[in-house]
Amino acid sequence: MKEYEQNIFVTKSKLPDFKRYCNEIKSIWNNHWLTNHGELHQKFQDLLLDYLDIPLIELYVNGHMALDISIKALGLEGEVITTPFTFASTIHALTMNNIKPVFCDIKLKDYTIDEHLIESLITSQTSAILAVHVYGFPCEVEKIERIARKYNLKVIYDAAHAFGVKLNRKSLTSYGDISMLSFHATKVFNSIEGGALVYEDVNLKEKLYLLRNFGISGPENIEIPGYNAKMNEFSAAMGICNLELIDEEIKSRKKIVDLYVQELNNLKGIKLPVYSDGVDYNYSYFPILIEDSFLLTRDDLHIALEKEGIYTRKYFFPLATDYHCYKKTDDNTALKNSRYVSERILTLPLYGDLSRESVLEICNLIKKMKRKINDERK
Ligand SMILES: *Cc1c(COP(=O)(O)O)cnc(C)c1O
Repeated sequence: MKEYEQNIFVTKSKLPDFKRYCNEIKSIWNNHWLTNHGELHQKFQDLLLDYLDIPLIELYVNGHMALDISIKALGLEGEVITTPFTFASTIHALTMNNIKPVFCDIKLKDYTIDEHLIESLITSQTSAILAVHVYGFPCEVEKIERIARKYNLKVIYDAAHAFGVKLNRKSLTSYGDISMLSFHATKVFNSIEGGALVYEDVNLKEKLYLLRNFGISGPENIEIPGYNAKMNEFSAAMGICNLELIDEEIKSRKKIVDLYVQELNNLKGIKLPVYSDGVDYNYSYFPILIEDSFLLTRDDLHIALEKEGIYTRKYFFPLATDYHCYKKTDDNTALKNSRYVSERILTLPLYGDLSRESVLEICNLIKKMKRKINDERK
């Protein structure tokens, strides 16, 4: 029997103090306003503008709908250059808008899109670049912007992992035409389900609003076809409460990451994330790469840890190019790094109140497995 928690999952959804949440939703029992841009929706929006220090934001029911709407609002079509090393949402948002995803390889350094390869993939059909700040690690935003300007392309960032990340003291979401945030329960910051679009061009505002609410611009006026993608008041209340806790949460996660790094640093065959100066990270995930010299494979380690009640995740495996639904359509011979990483990456448990004992237990298990395999090979 283990001394600590029975099972350790890769994340644990953040919840505010129960009474604090009840206090926040009390007003709903007075005004019976449950959804459709209520006062908590407005309050959450204002708090986010302030917290992220950005000019404009729109809230949505989830990150995926927000991403879909950003594609429609920018009028993208034809081809969009993106990464196969992401969650299904990124690619589905393109294909469900009849856009062909053109896959660009990633860098081994931080697993983000390799900006050096983007230009070679641009054709007369290309309308945008959809890049992912995977694990909250910033893409080369300045270089991507230069390419986009040169070829007159739009830039969308899937910033689902990047809430609170800053680059040179500025919110990472302030780059690109639009950045999408996810407030899903499993993300570093949650509103149960929820999402947002951060943007600067005020001309997009009306479209981003209409696409969220059936295209309704007045009691008797339907302007364009649109979704129902509004955030409800209970989600907004959860977001308001969790926003009060986010700085503390990120600080706690940093301590855990420091401990992981200290414990796993000298283990041959495990590549740890590289944290650069000039970035304020949010420590949303802790991905380790199991190199061939570790001797145990990623899948071996994943299964062995699971047997001990430790649930790691293969974020992201398989690659989007290998999904059953996309397999036939794409030539993916050039995606060497993406494939290498996807077959070797493992994200370890990480959340603010994960105990030091649990982290040490996880690291000791990994070290023990490594020692065992080393002894067997002698
Ligand atoms: C979670 C996630 C999304 C989708 O966000 P939801 O809020 O779950 O709809 C999109 N892209 C990436 C990379 C994600 O991790």
